[in-house]
Amino acid sequence: MLDIKELSLEELKERFNAAGIRPFHAEQVFAWIYRKMAGTFREMSDLPAPLREYLSSDFLIYSAVIARRLVSGDGTVKLLFELADGNMIESVLIPAERRMTGCISVQAGCGLRCAFCASGALGLERNLSCGEILEQVCRLQKEAGGRLTHLVFMGTGEPFNNYDNLIKAVRIINSKESFHIGARRITISTSGILPGIARLAGERLQVELSVSLHAADNEVRSRLMPVNEIYPLAQLLAACRVYSRNTGRQVTFEYILIKGINSSLPTAVKLCRMLKGMGCKVNLIPLNPLPSMEWRPPSAAETAVFSSFLRKQGIQATVRQPRGRDIEAACGQLRLQYAQNRQVERCVKSQ
Ligand code: SF4
Repeated sequence: MLDIKELSLEELKERFNAAGIRPFHAEQVFAWIYRKMAGTFREMSDLPAPLREYLSSDFLIYSAVIARRLVSGDGTVKLLFELADGNMIESVLIPAERRMTGCISVQAGCGLRCAFCASGALGLERNLSCGEILEQVCRLQKEAGGRLTHLVFMGTGEPFNNYDNLIKAVRIINSKESFHIGARRITISTSGILPGIARLAGERLQVELSVSLHAADNEVRSRLMPVNEIYPLAQLLAACRVYSRNTGRQVTFEYILIKGINSSLPTAVKLCRMLKGMGCKVNLIPLNPLPSMEWRPPSAAETAVFSSFLRKQGIQATVRQPRGRDIEAACGQLRLQYAQNRQVERCVKSQ
């Protein structure tokens, strides 16, 4: 059976047309799935009974199951999904004063192996389909009681390495027949895949682009993010400048602060020189260390020195505190823990 969320509204209308069903029913189905959060076709009370039967026999609404649901003391909710093929992915709901943000994964695992990231530790399994991306949004919307306001593609995986499914999902999320979340409330976060940045500029989508920078020179960045060997800093910053010029939109740089690696005042000076004249924002994120890691975040005082230097140089800098520390909400941590537990189970069984 086909996950109905794989289809855009136009594609569903075409299917209906071919099956002799009036296409306007597709809009009703979309409203039920994405706005009224229906979990079954039987609930779709304004559809004719034969159509509900046809849908139930040919399509699925949800293709994954929630394997774990963790709620943090700070209100963050983390969902671990088991996909139809047994792969695991994570999504996070982050409530704040005036917003409810969903953090979405785009791949099962990730092949880019950033040194600070649990997702990279297991490597890439596969890309998620459009339906699997949308399923996370549906489930988080339910968690949020229908009040999801923002989405960030900052979960597991590199969005631009799954470009077509990502953009198809974003267009559905943005459409008025679906969640109708404004493009400016959707952030796509990349590790710096240049062809993806260039393609996004041509999409005429008003989404926010965020780029993981994490260093002020190639040596440190390559150590933290091996992708820097393919797309080094100078090329990345040039691509961001072109993106800003072509779209009229500011780029946000994510910068994880790691004590003794990239959080000193001289590094802040280098960073300012590098970003001079770019009209960008910088999100500083004190490291949320994995249990296996020796690295630590800098002290609050060192973080303050770094951020206030950037501000004095005219760069918009904010410090973002990691959320959900008590539920392993750092990227991929829960999935990694789950995979390790499975490995232990397999070892115990084989003994
Ligand atoms: S930080 Fe992002 S790009 Fe890097 S390994 Fe983790 S999921 Fe992949």
